[in-house]
Amino acid sequence: MKDYFDELDKEIDSLSAISQQKDDIINTHILFNEGLDWTTENLEREKKLANNFNKKSPKKTNNNKNLEDEEIKGKFISKFPDTKFYLPTLREWYTRYIPIWWNNETGAKNMWMVQYGNDILLIDCWVQFADPDMLWVNYSIPDVSFLTKYKKNIKWFLITHAHLDHIGSLKHVYPALWCPPLYWTRFTIWLIRKQLEEAGILDKAVLIEVDAGSREMMKIWEFKVEYFRVNHSVPDCAGLYIESPTWTKIVHTWDFKIDFSPAIDQPADLDRIAEIWKRWISLLMSDSTGSIRKWFSMSEKNVWEELDKIVANHTKWRLIIAIFASWISRVQQLINIAEKYWKTIFLSWRSMVENVSIAKDLGYLTMKPGVVKKMTSKNVEWIPPHKQIIITTGSQWEQFSALARMAEWKHNAVEIIRWDTIVFSSSVVPGNEKSVVWIINKLIRLWANVITKDDWEVHTWGHAFQEEQKIMINLVKPKYFMPVFWDLYFRTLHRNTAIGLWMKDNNVLMLDNWNIVDFAPNNWNVFKSKIKVPIQEIIIDGHGMWLATSHVIKAREKMMNSWVLVLLFKVDKKTRAIMWHIKIESRGLVYLDEVRNIHRAIIKKSREVYENTIVDVPDMEEKDIIKIIKTDLEKFLLQKIDREPMIIPIIAEV
Ligand SMILES: [Zn+2]
Repeated sequence: MKDYFDELDKEIDSLSAISQQKDDIINTHILFNEGLDWTTENLEREKKLANNFNKKSPKKTNNNKNLEDEEIKGKFISKFPDTKFYLPTLREWYTRYIPIWWNNETGAKNMWMVQYGNDILLIDCWVQFADPDMLWVNYSIPDVSFLTKYKKNIKWFLITHAHLDHIGSLKHVYPALWCPPLYWTRFTIWLIRKQLEEAGILDKAVLIEVDAGSREMMKIWEFKVEYFRVNHSVPDCAGLYIESPTWTKIVHTWDFKIDFSPAIDQPADLDRIAEIWKRWISLLMSDSTGSIRKWFSMSEKNVWEELDKIVANHTKWRLIIAIFASWISRVQQLINIAEKYWKTIFLSWRSMVENVSIAKDLGYLTMKPGVVKKMTSKNVEWIPPHKQIIITTGSQWEQFSALARMAEWKHNAVEIIRWDTIVFSSSVVPGNEKSVVWIINKLIRLWANVITKDDWEVHTWGHAFQEEQKIMINLVKPKYFMPVFWDLYFRTLHRNTAIGLWMKDNNVLMLDNWNIVDFAPNNWNVFKSKIKVPIQEIIIDGHGMWLATSHVIKAREKMMNSWVLVLLFKVDKKTRAIMWHIKIESRGLVYLDEVRNIHRAIIKKSREVYENTIVDVPDMEEKDIIKIIKTDLEKFLLQKIDREPMIIPIIAEV
């Protein structure tokens, strides 16, 4: 296995090799929007503007100064790899924007930074749970290695809403950055409290609750920030307005839709968004997730009417409804319906029970006593099946696992039978299509009745469709527009929508992850750096934090795609001669009929290679002998059986 350690060393070397970037912005940046030019005239104009600014230097104290790196230790890991990368110098009066992760992903990874002078503010903090491509690591998180050098400069951490792809890795990232004050809306703050409490770092956190409907401008350090209310699929979702002292004004919708009749939230605050326009917005970043969908997304009210009809007509046996755990408004609709038809709701799945309990405590959910129960194998027996509505879920990445258990009769309280009706009041997360079809097939085989959003309107999207995207662009009227989230395809459609309205082609900024973009004062020009921040994918695997390119993951990949062959050479310490038979173990390499012949041939070849090597170079180092054995055997096996196992020779001196 020594070569894997060599690879590890190489990884460490490559990290250290990233040299310090000292170049001035003019040398490292290029003009983003062709058609405009970095002229002397513009420079003069900006100099004049600069003279008008308030030159008071920002306060340099850090309100977390007593927080030491090593102080926070607990059940979680927060030690990011070292990097020698430094951000290029930010020109005076300029405002910098970096997507730390956000685009070109099937899935959502949200984290951004904005910088002015020495002050940095961060927005959102994603987690991505493992899928089979990630080779059984637990989850991946954003790489904030380069930011750990600037932790004294990080003044704010803004969070937009409570979905895990916006908050999920705070327990790792937040302490690594010295726990700057966190600003969240109410529902979000409580979900994050739970996460930080479980990690044992709640006492280090500075949590500041904001009201997205208050229309108040917050001024901390160099930035002005305002939250504004939008609709989405989780309560208390907000968009952001960020203003730097040199009037770079950014509006970010984050995940949004416009719903005039939402279930528990207020409708998106279009009045306020229209007022914000009057400040002359430099840049609008807007959610591209729904770009492929024409017209408007359906309102939650329509879903309520459909679910009401289903419950009203379903009088014979159990009703099982699958939803996302964070879709609290859908739960409220089901509670209202259950109360109307004298039914009892049973919650199945831990995340659902926890979210409902927080939402109830905070007053987001209202219910009569006894209508909602946490499901146990005993309490379901007390309610007749036709009076039961079972709400089942998994998190977004384990979407229907409780339902799968019910279908396989492995659930502790429910076994699906022919009279059950199962409603999929949710969409399929891309990538999960196969497993959802598998569950539906399984349910149909049990003769259960299955209803999906293709049969009835039992689900609506949480993201804006094309007409809602147009409303947002028209209300904000930005100088520059940046479509964000999801693949290039989705963002390009959003770009086309904007150009189809009135946006100039040159003013639509299409960015990649880790681009460094600097806005000149008063929005004259936008510059994109020639370099990108060297961000890597960080994985959490058991109790360790590693790079996704680690030798361990490479080895797993190799084992998954090939097979394993272990050879044990017992050799004399002095003469280096093989003392006994070479022992062989293989997994996934040879079939029963061929095992004897092939193992024999491998042993013969291994002995030959080892002995020839020792004869040629008697004092060759062990690691070099191992390399030769591996290379020669790889060739041999490829020729003989056309298979490429991972070969692990072990030399034991006795
Ligand atoms: Zn979301």
